Amino acid sequence: MPPFKHTPAPYTGPSKEEVIALRKKYLSPAMFWHFREPVMITEGKMQYLFDEKGRRYLDAFAGIVTVSVGHCHPEVVAAVDRQNSLLQHTTTIYLNNEIAEYAKELADKMPGDLKVVYFVNSGSEANDMALMLARAYTGNYDMITLRNGYHGMSPETMGLCGQHTWKQPIPQGFGVRHAMNPDPYRGPFGNDGQKYAADVADLIAGATSGQVAGFIAETIQGVGGAVQLADGYLPAVHKLVREHGGVCIADEVQTGFGRTGSAFWGFQNAGVMPDIVTMAKGIGNGLPLAAVVTTPEIAASLAKRIHFNTFGGNPVCSAGGRAVLRVIEREGIQQNAAAVGSHLLSRLRALQQKHDLIGDVRGRGLMLGLELVKDRATKAPATAELGEVFERMKDMGVLMGKGGLYGNVFRIKPPMCITRQDADFLVDVMDHAMSTL
Ligand code: PLP
Repeated sequence: MPPFKHTPAPYTGPSKEEVIALRKKYLSPAMFWHFREPVMITEGKMQYLFDEKGRRYLDAFAGIVTVSVGHCHPEVVAAVDRQNSLLQHTTTIYLNNEIAEYAKELADKMPGDLKVVYFVNSGSEANDMALMLARAYTGNYDMITLRNGYHGMSPETMGLCGQHTWKQPIPQGFGVRHAMNPDPYRGPFGNDGQKYAADVADLIAGATSGQVAGFIAETIQGVGGAVQLADGYLPAVHKLVREHGGVCIADEVQTGFGRTGSAFWGFQNAGVMPDIVTMAKGIGNGLPLAAVVTTPEIAASLAKRIHFNTFGGNPVCSAGGRAVLRVIEREGIQQNAAAVGSHLLSRLRALQQKHDLIGDVRGRGLMLGLELVKDRATKAPATAELGEVFERMKDMGVLMGKGGLYGNVFRIKPPMCITRQDADFLVDVMDHAMSTL
């Protein structure tokens, strides 16, 4: 493992077995863990996590793509500590500088007319808000989204999700239409975005009143397995949706804040300009923080009535969010995502030449996916094999993410402070795990 200077504090809490027992008895069974034998994490420092025995792991999943600039980054910790001792909470009914200055700093990061910020606490809430804005502004109801997309777990956003894994049998998805996924690897039209866009035209004509409230999609599908949308798809669909009265929403919950390396926001890679952008996860480096950014005109559609939430823009979270923006800028985090990400991608592509198990390698920056298949011709998902490689990599000190509709995709989305040596270590460990299957 690459050298790294940090000695975790001795762990003095309950044993792992006791924590497992507590969790089984007192936490909802809906919560799950990823490993055969769960890993207990007691400390995090930059791109590394430590278990109760002080064992170090390279974190290739960043708390599900949330720890953007590194676990317990000193500047984020200092900003949070400072604000925490000054004022922990007021709602937006009072004036406070943190939330106002933060809104400006975030708006400065947005292109065009996207200048009005509404703070919430999670990606699900941000997408709920975006849907409400789209409907209030357009006066239309139907929403178009993608199969294999993921947008949250509130009833409304669960309805947007396009994977059975994430759906409860409850009423959901009123007015939501799922379009064919423009997946270059598995979709019927390969990388031809225009052909998938034609399916949206068909959906609008056949399943809506002909007028839509909007379209929402991730610019790279995260939970769905780092699926990049087929070339030309987003510009074509944005045009179509606007022709039918709708607005375009970019869900940047995973792709924002420089993670794709080549742009600060994922939609910039596709050359589109959304009307509403939602963000969470990496925005706060692990703090419960999320936001919706839109144009003054669209924001005004909710201004006739009050719309309130207690914690959105909490001063402690805002101070942390501001520190994240400063660190991204000063430490060249986006540039690092581009450089280390392209090195990692090329090493993973070389690994694909060696292991038939790797059907597809994809992604941008530090938002990468590796789809495992039993057979490259049939693309039968190698879900069990992935599980095995996943466990072996954990035993060798690398914690990976997994996902995709069939659970056969490695999701590599580490804190963006990861180094080239870490990337090499990850690939060597994966190579070893696959070679000894
Ligand atoms: N949108 C995307 C793209 C996500 O990946 C997620 C969570 O994984 C969400 C929305 C929902 O965010 P949260 O879990 O904070 O509600």
